[in-house]
Amino acid sequence: METRTYDAVIVGAGHNGLVLACYLARAGLSTVVVERRHEEGGGANTEEPVLPGFRHNMHANYMAFIDLMPVIADFGLEDLGLRTVMPEAQHGIAFADGRPPIILHRPDLLERTHASIARYSRSDADLYVELKRRSQRMEQLFAVGFFNPPDPAFVEGQSGALEGLYGDLGITNDFAAKTAKVVIDELFESPEMRTLLYQDAVEFGLPVDTSGLGFGFLTFMMWTTGNWKLPVGGTHTIAKVLTQACYREGVELLENTAVERIVLEDDRAVGVVARGCELRAERLVASNADVKQTLLDLVGEEHLSPAWARRANAFRYGPSHTVASPMFCLYDAPAYRSARWDPEIDRCYHTVVGFDGPDDTIRNIRDAYTGRLPEPGGGTWVNSLWDRSQAPPGRHAAGAWYFFPSASYLSAPEWAEVRETYNEKFLAKWIAVIVIAFNMSKTGAQFSTDIYPIDITI
Ligand SMILES: Cc1cc2nc3c(=O)[nH]c(=O)nc-3n(C[C@H](O)[C@H](O)[C@H](O)COP(=O)(O)OP(=O)(O)OC[C@H]3O[C@@H](n4cnc5c(N)ncnc54)[C@H](O)[C@@H]3O)c2cc1C
Repeated sequence: METRTYDAVIVGAGHNGLVLACYLARAGLSTVVVERRHEEGGGANTEEPVLPGFRHNMHANYMAFIDLMPVIADFGLEDLGLRTVMPEAQHGIAFADGRPPIILHRPDLLERTHASIARYSRSDADLYVELKRRSQRMEQLFAVGFFNPPDPAFVEGQSGALEGLYGDLGITNDFAAKTAKVVIDELFESPEMRTLLYQDAVEFGLPVDTSGLGFGFLTFMMWTTGNWKLPVGGTHTIAKVLTQACYREGVELLENTAVERIVLEDDRAVGVVARGCELRAERLVASNADVKQTLLDLVGEEHLSPAWARRANAFRYGPSHTVASPMFCLYDAPAYRSARWDPEIDRCYHTVVGFDGPDDTIRNIRDAYTGRLPEPGGGTWVNSLWDRSQAPPGRHAAGAWYFFPSASYLSAPEWAEVRETYNEKFLAKWIAVIVIAFNMSKTGAQFSTDIYPIDITI
């Protein structure tokens, strides 16, 4: 078998593999990244899966932490072409009966956010804006937390921190142990605000019914809200600039090459086998593949201690739901009924549709978590509003997220039925909140239902 020797071998060219490769190479290690796909980036990819010219981010779409990433300055990623936009209106909800929307803005536009929430509740508006202002001051704390190993003292100190941060707002330390739903219910009175915040919490990674996430809601989620950026050219651009940075640092990248196994000697990883070649690593092997794949498929259960074999087998993906990414190719951008109250809803980065009140959102989320197929509803985006490269001239590329039960809850025929019918049902909900303005495009309908894709990623 052909053998090549490096200091470091990295399995997988997701953005984490690429970032690691850049730093290792800069530290002087000869580094190779082995990627099974035809291009780098992993979940940071943009493709044309439906119609030519309509570009969709297949997975990662919203960049919340990009400003905190040291890799951007360390490797000059902006010089290599990384550009982002930060839409002014960030998270919104539009209702089918044309009630005013609620819109949460960027941190520098909180007076607009206040006015939007205050249509429903002055006290909700005051509290949200104050929580948001204070959470912004924690930005450096999050930056340190993201790029350092978890600090047990910090985790233990969490529950004692809330009163110091928000005590004068009536928030006591016991909020840390509550669920996100309880925190939202106790703090915000307007049903419209609750409807939006439940959905945002789940989309931001905080299941609403899990105890102990109150701290996360009041700190991390409050900070993340409104801090989302869109990479110009699609999320793919992040992969592109990281790939270029790798080349500039002298990293070798092998595409179309799946690692078949990680080679062990004396219980130590010393290389990988890929495409009939052994790539030896003098210093380290790192894996960007997921935990189960790395430990069970590439290392092999027989090489793990009983405790690690048990842990690897027991590892559970996600908090028991599936995120599906449908993609829509539109004749025109959605024009919402509620825009008569606030036209910004037509230019909102992340717009929740399909829910008329808090019970709808909660039912949707709980159905997904307990194995039932939810009534359609969810967050939507139209990236071509800010980045014309994402759709042909005059057209728009949109996406959404649906929550579904874990794959194993439904049978193959049931998933096939979902693929056939769910987009139609979601579109019916989406169209319900939109003004159908005829004669505004050559086809007669402003919002097209005849060229959207039938494509759900499950
Ligand atoms: C539907 C969806 C929506 C998301 N939305 C967002 C969002 O809006 N914002 C956000 O920040 N994050 C989002 N995420 C999460 C984000 O996409 C991931 O956290 C991120 O892509 C993980 O990066 P990674 O480098 O760790 O791994 P990955 O991107 O998973 O990269 C792993 C790489 O390893 C390769 N690989 C695996 N096995 C092998 C092998 N045997 N040999 C060689 N190569 C191999 C894979 O092909 C892949 O390129 C979303 C994820 C999903 C699924």
